[in-house]
Amino acid sequence: MATTKTRKKTVARAGGARATDEALRARLREVGLKATAGRLSVLAELRRAKSPLSHAEVAARLAGSQLDKVTVWRILVALTGAGIVDRTDVGDHTWRFELRDTAMGHDPHPHFMCVTCKAVQCLPRDAVHISPRIGRGVIDVRIKGRCERCL
Ligand SMILES: [Zn+2]
Ligand SMILES: [Zn+2]
Repeated sequence: MATTKTRKKTVARAGGARATDEALRARLREVGLKATAGRLSVLAELRRAKSPLSHAEVAARLAGSQLDKVTVWRILVALTGAGIVDRTDVGDHTWRFELRDTAMGHDPHPHFMCVTCKAVQCLPRDAVHISPRIGRGVIDVRIKGRCERCL
């Protein structure tokens, strides 16, 4: 009896998370990747983050799970290759990864990096306007400065 009760509680609590996990599963299936627990965990972390995460940051967030750093790296590479995840280098020679279908839409967007704390923020796609006379299909825009906290 006691066991049944505990189980019910867990299911109820995980209800919301499971619904969104289903979206991630569907996303993996769309690109022909198997929805493994590891891939789902990495995607869930990227989705939770409001800004791009480096491999080290993703691995740190998953510390304590069964995923070691090498596995996390392989998963990030696979997800990037499949087009679910975008990777960007904001100029500090560190790849940062972010989920593609965020509120930012599917398109690449500019990033802002704080020169003091190195925090990276996503900017709306139209935050920077580039004249078609200069270039079309610009996919990588980085802006540097001091963030609000570091001003
Ligand atoms: Zn800062
Ligand atoms: Zn971004």
